Amino acid sequence: MTQEIINLEKQYVLHTYNRPPFTFTRGDGTWIYDTDGNRYLDAGSGIAVNALGHQHEAVVRAIKEAADGLLHVSNLYHTAPHAKLAQTLCESSFADKAFFCNSGTEANEGAIKFARKWAKVNGNEQKIELVAFSGSFHGRTMGALSLTSREKYRAPFEPLIGGTRFATFNDLASAEAAINDQTCGVIVEPIQGEGGVTPANPKFLAGLRQLCNRHNALLIFDEVQCGLGRTGQLWGHQGYGTTPDIMTLAKPLGGGLPIGAILVNESVAQVMQPGDHASTFAGGPFVCHVANTVLQQIIKPEFLARVQSNSLYLQETLKRVISKTSLLTDMRGKGMMWGLISTIPATEIMTEAYQHGLLILVAGDNIIRLLPPLTICREEIDTLGQRLFKTLETVG
Ligand SMILES: *Cc1c(COP(=O)(O)O)cnc(C)c1O
Repeated sequence: MTQEIINLEKQYVLHTYNRPPFTFTRGDGTWIYDTDGNRYLDAGSGIAVNALGHQHEAVVRAIKEAADGLLHVSNLYHTAPHAKLAQTLCESSFADKAFFCNSGTEANEGAIKFARKWAKVNGNEQKIELVAFSGSFHGRTMGALSLTSREKYRAPFEPLIGGTRFATFNDLASAEAAINDQTCGVIVEPIQGEGGVTPANPKFLAGLRQLCNRHNALLIFDEVQCGLGRTGQLWGHQGYGTTPDIMTLAKPLGGGLPIGAILVNESVAQVMQPGDHASTFAGGPFVCHVANTVLQQIIKPEFLARVQSNSLYLQETLKRVISKTSLLTDMRGKGMMWGLISTIPATEIMTEAYQHGLLILVAGDNIIRLLPPLTICREEIDTLGQRLFKTLETVG
């Protein structure tokens, strides 16, 4: 059966991913099972989406409740779950208004448009430039891709949108050289995900804020991966002392359902008028009801406190693994978001880990990326450490 499914995908699905030779059927918390009955510890969470793990009781209940209500009405009409989700996101962040969409890419695409419009209203026709950073990942559509640094992702599709510049991440002098009076927006991940799990320096983010203020440009935080509890705080930029004008969210917000959000301050909200931006599916009552449930879990102080204390336990566990192998040299990250620097291609380790019942991710060529569910417990962290160590012993 497994081989049949793989053959069908090979024949009918566009080959834009290389997938491992098994097929998943069900999940439970931190665990996921394939058709051959193998059990894997899921330390990737479907790329930071399943923050509450698989089959979280509150999420399953919310889906069942939502199925009894309206699934879709379009954005032409009011619904309660939509209003409530916007309220909770704004009341728990810097933001005054929210706009919903269907993915992280789409959230960034919207942020680009908002920045362009804001600068047309508050600046002039020349104020169109967007600045992004080395190591960035903001998505794959033409606008978001224009701000994604990796050459391999960009080159086949050029020319991308105009008016974009790249500066070096965590290098304020480089940012200063790129940001000027023609800049409308500066987009940055407070902790870069795909680019290698690299936290921004506090001084770097604070410096970007000053440069944006000086040149009348918007500061945009892409928290699609690092936001919503991933760092042990609700927002990735919390603790940095720097506030953006726009923040984009997606991955974990819908508990596995597709939803993204663009949060904005009053100044940005002022320039957006009816007809300026839209989406047919976004912010529907079904997905918003589920997202409200996910958010209610994550924003609880005791939930975040547990993520923080289990993060310390995870860090100790990973440090022990690193100390016992020559294949890993260092680690960086925060909360439940860690990059382990490897001396061999990271995909070799990821592939070997399947044999040991462990799902891990990579970021770039030589970084192992760990994004376990925020709900992972200490016993599972022990198992993660053991399986990772066994993987490193048998790889190559
Ligand atoms: C995943 C990701 C995106 C793109 O989100 P999609 O939902 O895949 O479109 C954008 N920015 C960051 C930081 C991401 O990690």
